[in-house]
Amino acid sequence: MSIPSIVTPPLSGTFSTESVSNDSTDLISISEIFGPTIQGEGALIGTQTIFVRTAGCDYRCSWCDTGYAVLPEFDNDWKNMDAESVFNKIESLSNKQAMWITLSGGNPAMQNLEPLIKLGQAKGYKFSMETQGSIAKPWFALLDQLTFSPKPPSSGMRFKHKGLQRCLDACETLEIINSQTHPDVSLKFVVADQDDLLWAKEIAEQYPQLPCYVQPCNNNADINVDNRSTADDLENKEENSPYDQKQKMLWLIDAVQSLNWTDVRVLPQLHVWLNVE
Ligand code: SF4
Repeated sequence: MSIPSIVTPPLSGTFSTESVSNDSTDLISISEIFGPTIQGEGALIGTQTIFVRTAGCDYRCSWCDTGYAVLPEFDNDWKNMDAESVFNKIESLSNKQAMWITLSGGNPAMQNLEPLIKLGQAKGYKFSMETQGSIAKPWFALLDQLTFSPKPPSSGMRFKHKGLQRCLDACETLEIINSQTHPDVSLKFVVADQDDLLWAKEIAEQYPQLPCYVQPCNNNADINVDNRSTADDLENKEENSPYDQKQKMLWLIDAVQSLNWTDVRVLPQLHVWLNVE
């Protein structure tokens, strides 16, 4: 199975930030659906949720931990599903108990998730999403919570302000809002080193109205950045020990304090620390 909408960036680490306002298909490319589990990151950390991980991404971050949802060589594991089928799976996993649904990826903004969101919200489910802020969709305005996670220099990707601004503007797409809903929007930065932290602070200062979270990068680099990594590379990737994760967290707390950056929250990747999916 191939994913026609996937964008393979050039090796220089540049990428498309063009808005995509019209979705050509109502099928959603899915990597995995699982839960309930806890949200391990960001504004909803600790919240029970079902994860819907879409397949395909317009980025190739050096430390990506979901290569199986990004690299085309995994496309045999991906499924094209309509919104009803995805929601049936969600209802089955949640025993029809309304809860948070986390839309993740890959980059979920590559898909048309409007029908799924409307279907779920009609049954009382709430939708949260994380995306890097490179592709804007009008249906962002329907989400209950939206985390933009611009990728720092260590990712090997190049950040474009215009792309993020288009995404923020999309959250205000009035034509699509059928009630008082607006997403709660926040920023989240993965930080691998001091350069990343300085960069994140600079970006966050341009959006003082948005709650901001930073978290240590818990994955080792050199996966996917040139789109030549293989499934074996991912299998053999060395993972951080809990000790490493703690050291990174302590370093990040100290580094944030050294910068006098007081209006940011430092969070771990809880699910990584606890080694739960
Ligand atoms: S870490 Fe980068 S490559 Fe991986 S899913 Fe997120 S944006 Fe895509």
